[in-house]
Amino acid sequence: MLHPCQRCGACCATYRVAFHWMETMDDSGIGVPEALAETLDPHRLAMRGTNAKAPRCIALHGDIGIETACTIYARRPSPCRAVMASYEDGTVSPQCDKARLLHGLAPLTPADWVAQRAS
Ligand code: SF4
Ligand code: SF4
Repeated sequence: MLHPCQRCGACCATYRVAFHWMETMDDSGIGVPEALAETLDPHRLAMRGTNAKAPRCIALHGDIGIETACTIYARRPSPCRAVMASYEDGTVSPQCDKARLLHGLAPLTPADWVAQRAS
């Protein structure tokens, strides 16, 4: 069974994803690929597509609410790592709930994780 985030992707098409430029370290192979980021100010970059009126990260693949994937998952920036899915750790995530509601998806419930863990 897919992880609930793999059937969602809403937060990747809701928020501006901004981070310090030092998170792009192409040479190391672990940082955010520089070509996928744009400059916000002298210190910060944003994932391309997320600083738009209708945000959608350039690295997001798939259809929101059906099946999605982050194409740079291992190299995603710190704001992406900080967003928790509601009830993944037993608590509500306001960022998750807001993003899902904006995309017409019901907030996750504890039941979504019971099904996930049983699979
Ligand atoms: S954290 Fe929430 S909004 Fe983001 S992909 Fe996962 S379920 Fe969707
Ligand atoms: S880098 Fe990946 S996890 Fe972060 S917003 Fe883009 S698609 Fe989502």
